[in-house]
Amino acid sequence: MKVLVAVKRVVDYNVKIRVKADGSGIDTGNVKFSMNPFDEIAVEEAVRLKEAGKASEIVAVSMGPAIAHETIRTALAMGADRGILVTSDEELQPLAVAKLLKAIVEREAPKLVILGKQAIDDDANQTGQMLAALLGWPQGTFASKVVLHSDTAEVTREVDGGLEMVALTLPAVVTTDLRLNEPRYASLPNIMKAKKKPIDTLTPAELGVDVTPRLVTLKVEEPPKRKSGIKVGSVAELVDRLKNEAKVI
Ligand code: AMP
Repeated sequence: MKVLVAVKRVVDYNVKIRVKADGSGIDTGNVKFSMNPFDEIAVEEAVRLKEAGKASEIVAVSMGPAIAHETIRTALAMGADRGILVTSDEELQPLAVAKLLKAIVEREAPKLVILGKQAIDDDANQTGQMLAALLGWPQGTFASKVVLHSDTAEVTREVDGGLEMVALTLPAVVTTDLRLNEPRYASLPNIMKAKKKPIDTLTPAELGVDVTPRLVTLKVEEPPKRKSGIKVGSVAELVDRLKNEAKVI
């Protein structure tokens, strides 16, 4: 069974984001980029499925500037077999990415596509759902457990009230939540081996997809700074302040 995994290059989660002075976006100069953390979980899950003999080939796909091939290399070092990079210097919004992924799915015919539940840069949480809708495939989003059979998958989903289990008929789309697994670090021998694994490069035009943005970012601003708290002397003072100052009780 072939598994496709979507991996996005994003500003590293440890970086303190700086907003550009003109509010047009964030400052990405001299900033470390890494694979989106939820996508690391997606790659790990695919590699475990392969190790368990359930997946036969793992294809890692990324869309973005040419440098996104580094993100694919990371996926290859973790255990993916080959990569596909769709290069574009335009801003790629979730609908564009979903359309590009759909075009790749039509070429590659995987039985399972695994994405992160969200990219930590746009926090959109849309691409997996849009891809499933465009393909007309079942979807299991926010997965904390995936059990794969030959024609079905059981996905445990993290929902507000607890856990929900859905049974999907393959082919299907799964998006990963934090508790699905703990991604491995690539070992040095595997990083070396990954250098020899193939990465195909395509363009949106070759896939017949118009990636023109549909949404306009009006302004990006930092959240207001939180005021520092105070220590109260007693429970009575706390209750008094909640009642008379904060007026919340
Ligand atoms: P989003 O809907 O933007 O929050 O992204 C959800 C997931 O879609 C991510 O975790 C990735 O798996 C996938 N994805 C989004 N954008 C890209 C991209 N440019 N390249 C590869 N995968 C992407």
